[in-house]
Amino acid sequence: MISYLYVGIDDTDSPDGMCTTYLACHIIAKLKDNGIDIVGYPRLIRLNPFARFKTRGNGGVSFKIINDEKAQLAKQIVLDEVSRLSMFDCDNTNPGVIFYDGEITRQMEDYAFRAIYSFITIEEAEEFGKSVGCEIHKFKKGRGIIGSIAAISLPLKDYTYELLAYRIPENYGTKRQIDYDSVYEMDKKTFPDTFENIDYDEGYIAIEPKTPCPVLYGIRSNNADALIEAQRMVKVLEPIEDSCIFLTNQHTDMHIQKAESISQMKQYGCYEITATVKDAPHIIDGGHMFFKVFDESGEIECGAYEPTKNFRKTVSHLRKGDIIKLYGGIGEQKTFNIEKFQVIELNDVEYKNPVCECGKRMTSAGKNKGFKCKKCGNRIESSQKVPVKISRFLENFRFYETPVSARRHLSKPLCRMDL
Ligand code: ATP
Repeated sequence: MISYLYVGIDDTDSPDGMCTTYLACHIIAKLKDNGIDIVGYPRLIRLNPFARFKTRGNGGVSFKIINDEKAQLAKQIVLDEVSRLSMFDCDNTNPGVIFYDGEITRQMEDYAFRAIYSFITIEEAEEFGKSVGCEIHKFKKGRGIIGSIAAISLPLKDYTYELLAYRIPENYGTKRQIDYDSVYEMDKKTFPDTFENIDYDEGYIAIEPKTPCPVLYGIRSNNADALIEAQRMVKVLEPIEDSCIFLTNQHTDMHIQKAESISQMKQYGCYEITATVKDAPHIIDGGHMFFKVFDESGEIECGAYEPTKNFRKTVSHLRKGDIIKLYGGIGEQKTFNIEKFQVIELNDVEYKNPVCECGKRMTSAGKNKGFKCKKCGNRIESSQKVPVKISRFLENFRFYETPVSARRHLSKPLCRMDL
């Protein structure tokens, strides 16, 4: 049986530069120069979106090589390049490298899910890594070992790919020279095999990062072939140093846990929950929109924040009594931030005063005194309002999602859902 050496790398970058995927791409090229090929695609694994020390998207990277006589040289190359290229000056950059040469066990898979659903300390990760036989390398505080162990351990039942193209160092921090028309063209030809390329409402080119990192663009897809085609179509007016396709858990909803009741939901967790709308959504200064939902166990405030743009308009159509399935995460403010929702049952009934025989809607004749008609003087003794079916903008069973520009890395877009 073939034995593999797994390599996990995390926490090498800072908001001012570098990117762990770039470092991995660079290492993979160096390994190749030394006659060492990686097996399959390298993996970009997104972990808990609420992790405190993340730079941006909380991603760790892993890859595997055949564990033969060259494995020792491979380890040396990895450690040398992490030492050479990590952004050590940043307090928050604490790289961690993991080597592992056994089978990925159930225990390791469970650890990886914990790194997506909850928080893990450096000490816990180190203890766990040692207990399963990982070779652990910590740089500075070595916080990266938390994500590195998860990046090699996470099973991928559902997955996507991302092609990342990197700039030459001379161009870091300068405006990216991407021909936007070619991105529109690429999206038209390759969607839905590729997705998240453009936010049409906002005129936002989502493949282009907004940070000074080495990435020129990143294209996301359900299959690797479509990425080759997409890359061929995107025109850029600056050199590309290298590019690399990563297998990822992006856009799989892997961060979402099914909650049976609102009372089960905890802060910094991401959930799917079915509940009833308690009050009409309202907007506050800053453009954030809120509404409450409830079930038999309790209630929670839901938020559609300003960056979700037009999604707030959709949310504003919710009404008291609507039953909806919500997907999202409970953040810093303890509100449930909505990533998408499905309407389960709309409340399309409104209670109104009865209509008189003459056709005019009646008015109240006073408390518990029934209704009277102002036009013909007719009276009804009963004070019971009558149900009237109203038309709704939202549709039963339909899903509604945040726009591309506000999408989390892990959120599954509707174009990937079996609807
Ligand atoms: P980039 O998106 O550019 O790769 P990043 O957002 O991934 O950057 P990192 O520099 O990787 O940010 O920092 C995230 C840190 O959080 C890493 O040290 C990682 O090990 C750690 N981490 C990941 N998951 C958890 C978790 N569940 N609990 C605690 N720490 C975590």
